[in-house]
Amino acid sequence: MARIELRGISHTYAGGAPALKPLEMVWEDGGAYALLGPSGCGKTTLLNIISGLLRPTVGSVLIDGKDVTHAPPEERNIAQVFQFPVVYDTMTVFDNLAFPLRNRRVPEKEIRQRVEQIGDLLEMSHQLGRRARGLSADELQKISLGRGLVRKDVAAILFDEPLTVIDPHAKWHLRRKLKQIHQATPVTLVYVTHDQVEALTLADRVVVMNVGSVVQQGTPEDLFERPAHTFVGHFIGSPGMNFLPCTVEDDAAVVGTHRVPLDANVCAKARAAKGPIVLGVRPEFLRRAEPEARGAIRTTVGHVEELGTHVIASASYSAGEGEQELKVKLPEGSKVTAGETLWLELPASRAMLYADGQAVSSE
Ligand code: ATP
Repeated sequence: MARIELRGISHTYAGGAPALKPLEMVWEDGGAYALLGPSGCGKTTLLNIISGLLRPTVGSVLIDGKDVTHAPPEERNIAQVFQFPVVYDTMTVFDNLAFPLRNRRVPEKEIRQRVEQIGDLLEMSHQLGRRARGLSADELQKISLGRGLVRKDVAAILFDEPLTVIDPHAKWHLRRKLKQIHQATPVTLVYVTHDQVEALTLADRVVVMNVGSVVQQGTPEDLFERPAHTFVGHFIGSPGMNFLPCTVEDDAAVVGTHRVPLDANVCAKARAAKGPIVLGVRPEFLRRAEPEARGAIRTTVGHVEELGTHVIASASYSAGEGEQELKVKLPEGSKVTAGETLWLELPASRAMLYADGQAVSSE
């Protein structure tokens, strides 16, 4: 297990814009961390800096307090699993899995035990004697995962979108396996993905990145319930958070003709803040209300998607001079049709104010 510390790390590729802006970060021993963000935000760059495949332009990497910024990958005791399989196709599945152990001169008896254990976990026991050539893309990637997981003495395992090539059904299964393996062997795990479901199910803490910067780091619950930035609210969730333009009057946000009472401190700070103010509320927290119910917003339903377990509808409401659209997630079986009037309750306890993209905090 290892504690990974990044001090003032930044990176710029030759001739390019900064791929990673200066960041400070500490990842504790045995934690499961996900780096989540859209394509090109710098996730792989950061991962490669930790593994030693890339040297940061500025800053240092510490593993268990030791500065390894200039140490090559083989001196960092870190395993890395890539997006595409790295497998020797003339070798058997067994020999591929045994490779990292033989490299470290682990006794053959121990190798057999460990490879069989990993083969079992990945449900490949019946294939250990087969040559890798001719196996499916899913199977080859499972071997790559196994090679990353096989050593018990690694300080950390870094995964770079390892389930991208895996078929969606097998993906669900492998995600569960990875979680189980991590719970059984508490190695520090850093998992890069642009898929929020992978990040939120696998990691205890998720680091959300955008354009080379860390926007928020927190538990899956923090990111869902209290996004620190409109980017996080929008990126996490399906669909993402609604951001309703509003003004702040006394101790309430005013959305169209609707007042949402909020914490007095938050309102005072929002009034003093620069930049546009919006009220964020998740589609799942809006509730259908009785017609003309006190405090409810009157909307007109637009597009409706029935998704089996729930219904997602877009709805518009009158906001000053124009119309504003929001999304609402209703329970399965809800009857809503395009064009109908829908009254929505906006619970104050589930709403957050943002000024110029940043959450306004009460502290
Ligand atoms: P993806 O999910 O698509 O892999 P990412 O979040 O992992 O994206 P990076 O691969 O780290 O992002 O890329 C960050 C930025 O650096 C991007 O703008 C990318 O084009 C650029 N970049 C990455 N690798 C290189 C390279 N070898 N040379 C020049 N620019 C690069």
